[in-house]
Amino acid sequence: MVIDVVRIGQRLVRDDRVTTHVALVARAFGANSILMTEVNPEIKDTLKKINDTWGGDFSIKIINNWKSIIKEKKKNGFKIIHLTMYGEQINDIQSDLRNEENLVVVVGAEKVPREIYEFADYNIGIGNQPHSEISALAILLDRIHMGNQFTKEFWGGKRKIIPTKKGKTVVMKETRD
Ligand code: SAM
Repeated sequence: MVIDVVRIGQRLVRDDRVTTHVALVARAFGANSILMTEVNPEIKDTLKKINDTWGGDFSIKIINNWKSIIKEKKKNGFKIIHLTMYGEQINDIQSDLRNEENLVVVVGAEKVPREIYEFADYNIGIGNQPHSEISALAILLDRIHMGNQFTKEFWGGKRKIIPTKKGKTVVMKETRD
């Protein structure tokens, strides 16, 4: 399953950190790429450094027109999930999502345009209380992957963490995969 995340809109500067965290969660929780509008371009360097150090080929793309991108993806067979507190409860829909081939997950920053509610195949609420796109994305990806995203190997990179009960164990990878 390929999962691409699309983040639409951001309150410039104020949202820089949140946007970076949306990208980090997408990468760490098993999405393949993130596409974002109106973003501070430094985020690309941040994610490149993370991939160089910790591996994987998570990609980040800055886009101008999110509508044409998600329309194109839909034409190519992707199902569109829009995360919104007004949507159907994740508990009721999660098993359907696991049967899908490829997904685009749309998250907002501030108020999202009305049309996305109509265009989405699934409007999904991670609970029906307002919280954050970071937490909503993390929980959605975890429910889809059922925790298996954490056993995925991030190929390449320079370092790997060996989980330990106390302290920090990090090994240097000898060769790039
Ligand atoms: N008031 C805004 C609106 O009506 O669209 C919500 C802004 S919220 C800070 C930013 C994003 O977090 C939303 O666009 C949505 O993607 C996500 N989000 C927040 N709470 C959510 C929830 N309970 N379930 C799913 N997504 C949520």
